Amino acid sequence: MADQSPPEPPSLDPADWNAFRAFAHGVVDETLEHVRTIRDTRVWNTMPQNVRDAISNEPVPHGGIGAEAAYRDYVRLVRPYPSGNLHPRSWGWVRGNGTPLGALSDYLASSLNPNVGGFDQAPVLVERRVVDWFAELMGFPKSAGGILSSGGTMANVLGFNVARNMKAGFDVRADGLQGNRPRMLVYGSTETHGWLRKACEMLGLGASAFRRVPVNNDFEIDVKQLRAMIAADRAAGHQPFCVVGTAGTVNTGATDDLTALADVCDAEDLWFHVDGAFGALVVLCPEYAHMVRGMERADSIAFDLHKWGYLPYDIACTLVRSDNDLVKTFAAQVNYLQVETRGATANLGFDRSERGIELSRDFKALKVWMSMRAEGVSVWAAHIARNIRQMQRLAKIVEAHPALELLAPAPLNIVCMRWARPDVPPAALDAVNKEVLFLLQERGIALPSATSLPKGYAIRSANTNYRTTDDDLDALANAVASIGDEVWATMKKASA
Ligand SMILES: *Cc1c(COP(=O)(O)O)cnc(C)c1O
Repeated sequence: MADQSPPEPPSLDPADWNAFRAFAHGVVDETLEHVRTIRDTRVWNTMPQNVRDAISNEPVPHGGIGAEAAYRDYVRLVRPYPSGNLHPRSWGWVRGNGTPLGALSDYLASSLNPNVGGFDQAPVLVERRVVDWFAELMGFPKSAGGILSSGGTMANVLGFNVARNMKAGFDVRADGLQGNRPRMLVYGSTETHGWLRKACEMLGLGASAFRRVPVNNDFEIDVKQLRAMIAADRAAGHQPFCVVGTAGTVNTGATDDLTALADVCDAEDLWFHVDGAFGALVVLCPEYAHMVRGMERADSIAFDLHKWGYLPYDIACTLVRSDNDLVKTFAAQVNYLQVETRGATANLGFDRSERGIELSRDFKALKVWMSMRAEGVSVWAAHIARNIRQMQRLAKIVEAHPALELLAPAPLNIVCMRWARPDVPPAALDAVNKEVLFLLQERGIALPSATSLPKGYAIRSANTNYRTTDDDLDALANAVASIGDEVWATMKKASA
């Protein structure tokens, strides 16, 4: 009888390791060269239609084209059109550059490919160690615990989930929020990042459980109003449970009075969560650490490492003052995750999966461990401090410039500006500045983003970019001024 079994598929290991090694070395060389020469490229390239079509219209690839052809397509279709944040003139939103060593560490992590949900393995110890280092740097006690996750949104959600469970006063894990109980409420300023609304929706609290506290002229939470809102809600029979303070708001880089918020939480028996997505790392800078004073009194802190940690996406950290609270929130025994006294699951068990939502997890801790050890925390701190100084300088330039206006205080690393000349009607400014932003981006001059502030539409630059120089920021200020003049002249001519 003829053998009916199908032919062996080609191995997913290289057919020829030597050839693959040569190919891989070439990929590494070209990639490093691309990053090394990034300043010579445009910060933003609008995708041509044929590139869009080539990616978007490709049918399912049932047959493979081989690694080299796939790589060539990457170089042609993908590499020229990423989000721009490698570049020294990327200041939109809050995006870090990523470091070459961080990228190389991701390669090591992927190649080793451990599942860092648990097991008695070195990668789990590495993650626990970097979390402990951050806990120490943030002034948390030895009893603190934490977990790495994808980004500030996830890191905040995890901390906030602990807050909800620990402060509910009943077993939320068992009963959910289905019962006929007082409404659980959380307080944060109107400048709080959008994660909190999503978290309230996702955790069953409802978006209306987020009480938006007004801010003062510096965009910091109004603590007096916070106290009044808590008192009014209690009087109405509701259950305040958490205050979210922000270290470095996404709009203007404001930091709430964290000491005052810690006092309110102590007095009211509320959970104190700090969203320090980028601002928390200011604690590393001796000359600026006072700006986040009070953060060390938080019950939980969330921060990104792909913003002011300069590491490649995606990576963030949640710290909880009591590791026990974290475990009580997330640990769940199941029969297929047996923890034994010897072998692969001894000692550490499923340590990481008991501190978050995910079971299978990548080894994102490695790039943190490698970078902290290779570069030293003091070098990170020096870059953060430099970014702050650069933006303080830019704010002064904007204030002094006859064609520019500063639209909000710039206490940290964010400058919100617009083009404005005295003879231009205020009603025209939003339209002019929107066009200025488009041209800055489309001409590949610089990549700031936009926001809407009480004074109007703002061209907003957040500097978590270790490649930026003062010259780059001078070029931004000059370009906003000259393009603003150009746009206004065109608009006037069109309406004449
Ligand atoms: C960026 C940011 C977040 C969200 O972090 P992601 O990493 O983008 O998910 C939350 N809060 C603040 C203040 C931020 O700046």
